[in-house]
Amino acid sequence: MEQGTTRAPAGITWKLVLRMLLISTVAAFAQTASTSSCTQCLMWNQPQPPFRIFGNTYYVGPRGLSSVLITSEAGHILIDGALPESAKQIAANIKSLGFRVEDVKVILNSHVHFDHAGGISELRRLSGARVLASVWSAAVMRSGTVGRGDPQFGTVPPIAAIQDVHEIRDGESVTVGSIALTAHLTPGHTPGGTSWTWRSCEDNVCHDIVYADSLTPVSAPGFKFTNSRNDPHALKDFEKSFAFLESVPCDVLITVHPEFSGFWERVDVRQRGVAPDPMVNPSACRDLAHRAREQLRRRVEEERGPSRKPN
Ligand SMILES: [Zn+2]
Repeated sequence: MEQGTTRAPAGITWKLVLRMLLISTVAAFAQTASTSSCTQCLMWNQPQPPFRIFGNTYYVGPRGLSSVLITSEAGHILIDGALPESAKQIAANIKSLGFRVEDVKVILNSHVHFDHAGGISELRRLSGARVLASVWSAAVMRSGTVGRGDPQFGTVPPIAAIQDVHEIRDGESVTVGSIALTAHLTPGHTPGGTSWTWRSCEDNVCHDIVYADSLTPVSAPGFKFTNSRNDPHALKDFEKSFAFLESVPCDVLITVHPEFSGFWERVDVRQRGVAPDPMVNPSACRDLAHRAREQLRRRVEEERGPSRKPN
């Protein structure tokens, strides 16, 4: 889960007004409805028509939480299921693109928080797909709890348990037909965080695509990334993840929260017919690493307090 990460579509005043109304009513709504009880959930789950990002890669998530479909003649791979209440929207989006949900053979996850993994149980039921996750995330999925080493333990709700989760390790690939996705462990936001890479082609042009997991140092009150018994490797974990983003071939970046990489701005510019395609930016992953590194630096500074100047 992230904080303060949702934007309404730009430039429309009444939508901003609507957003304010939604924020003020979410607390009461969350008490009585069966949807997820977080202040951003209604906005995250705003419907978004699905569309092609590049080649065989499609955006099928709601407006505020990414879910990506990679297709082949032999079946498809889906990454992330957003909120529990997003599952039906994602399934409908897959169908409206002309694909069958039953042809999704594998479901993958970035990190096992309810806003990215919450819909996976239902999508698995609808598709019959295999679910693959990192060893840490798979254990959390099977238990239907929140992992003890999760920096947000105690403040995020658990997801519905998924019993038959298969484990995938750093650098391993999963294939369906002609698709091959590689898992890259990018811990920090959670100990099991995973980013995914693959190559998509369109009209004889091929691009390296990166689905980057969150790298924000968000925690429950009292948790320290600099000194946690339950997550003792947090700072080293972040460093490994930054190094990955700085070195991975990355033509097209998709982040689990679209706005973390200016995704909707890129989509808007592309729809205006601007060339070259603004979706393609080989420095996007390095830029994301730079921003994430700076966020962590500020967090560490807060945790350690102001450094003492010599007398
Ligand atoms: Zn999260």
